[in-house]
Amino acid sequence: MQVCIHRGAKEIGGSCVEILSEGKRLIIDLGLPLDADKNDEKYLPDIAGLNGDDESLLAVLISHPHLDHFGLLAHISNKIPVIMGADARRILTEASRFLPDNWPVPPAGSALRSEIPFELGPFKITPFLIDHSGYDAYAIIIEADGKRLFYSGDFRMHGRKAGLTGKLIDNPPQNIDVLLLEGSTLGRLKNHESFPSETDIENQLVDTFSNAKGLTLVHASSQNIDRIVSDCSLGK
Ligand SMILES: [Zn+2]
Repeated sequence: MQVCIHRGAKEIGGSCVEILSEGKRLIIDLGLPLDADKNDEKYLPDIAGLNGDDESLLAVLISHPHLDHFGLLAHISNKIPVIMGADARRILTEASRFLPDNWPVPPAGSALRSEIPFELGPFKITPFLIDHSGYDAYAIIIEADGKRLFYSGDFRMHGRKAGLTGKLIDNPPQNIDVLLLEGSTLGRLKNHESFPSETDIENQLVDTFSNAKGLTLVHASSQNIDRIVSDCSLGK
């Protein structure tokens, strides 16, 4: 197994990793860099076959529906299978009605299902549903040539599904040869600090709403399903 990190090792977002085994290739994530001025094909990593003419490229796996992990799908051939969570694919498809400019609509393809392994060419792929603000997010184990790579994708432990991350930490995958771990919040907090949980957010919203004299509006990403659940939990 050979692994090439095309982007994401020295910056947050824009993630893209290519994996090679027995002459076949997989791409994990094809993200738009966070500092991109627009979604332009100039940001595509230099990977053979993105125009769909190279059968050695088996698929693109998308860990979760955040632009810095899938945005550059807008510039690759529809002939390349895109594998992602079924709900994530539905969210991106529906969002495309409102965001027409280079918003990728992933072509049909297989769906990641948590803890259900599947084989693709020489690769065995096992996804794990994980807590993240991007809905339907997965960490992924890729196995080939007797080696095991763990790609965490983006994750957190302060969302509504923190238990999923906790479950993975309590029962970590064994015999991992390569660990690609997201670290976008490393150094952002001091040791004693933590991000607010969704319960904290709910409580703050209740306070704000209770003390407001007039109309109160909430501004949140329409794709952050956990946050919308927090908003809708108010008053229960
Ligand atoms: Zn993300």
